[in-house]
Amino acid sequence: MPHAGKEDRMRYGVSYYPEHKEEEELSADLALLKQSGINTVRMGEFAWCRMEPSEGNFSFGWLEEAVNELGEAGIQTILCTPTACPPAWLAEKHPDILYVDNRRIRRPFGGRRHYCYNNETYRAYSVRIAEELAKAFAGNPYVAGVQIDNEPAQEGTGRCCCPVCEGKFREYLRQTYGSIEAFNRRTAGAAVFSGPRSTGILRRFRCL
Ligand SMILES: [Zn+2]
Repeated sequence: MPHAGKEDRMRYGVSYYPEHKEEEELSADLALLKQSGINTVRMGEFAWCRMEPSEGNFSFGWLEEAVNELGEAGIQTILCTPTACPPAWLAEKHPDILYVDNRRIRRPFGGRRHYCYNNETYRAYSVRIAEELAKAFAGNPYVAGVQIDNEPAQEGTGRCCCPVCEGKFREYLRQTYGSIEAFNRRTAGAAVFSGPRSTGILRRFRCL
């Protein structure tokens, strides 16, 4: 009998990364999780490269095995969209998804959160992997919830200075203030811009 739907315990959980484990390690980890009183784990937030190892080639069996094995032992899963870590093939195909720091340097692939959230290409691929994940786990009795992304704006990505972000920020200012004169008046001399192309606009307002 699945444990899902009968959750009346306080949730006590931890992150778990089966993508970095050998299959036989799961059983040993499971015993430790049970011994620690863990009843919920969250999984998948950095595993895009395992869920979609190449473009359009989706692979969720390894994650389903982990979800089911944990679930049968009474440990439910918060399933995470993997959008915090777009895979290398995506960055290689669309390097414009990588974020640009406040020195105007496009940061290389690596680590996590190496992308611009405003980039439409990144967004389109994110929607697709999230939909595929949802389809793969729809109805799974051991999935207790979903996490959308992970630590937004960490690792500097919330301060991306790419042309897309700069354009959106200028549009935000235009809609908020209406004119350069109104903006300069409202900011009370904190910054004075002479035109919409004043350099360093994002460095001053978003990247310091
Ligand atoms: Zn950007």
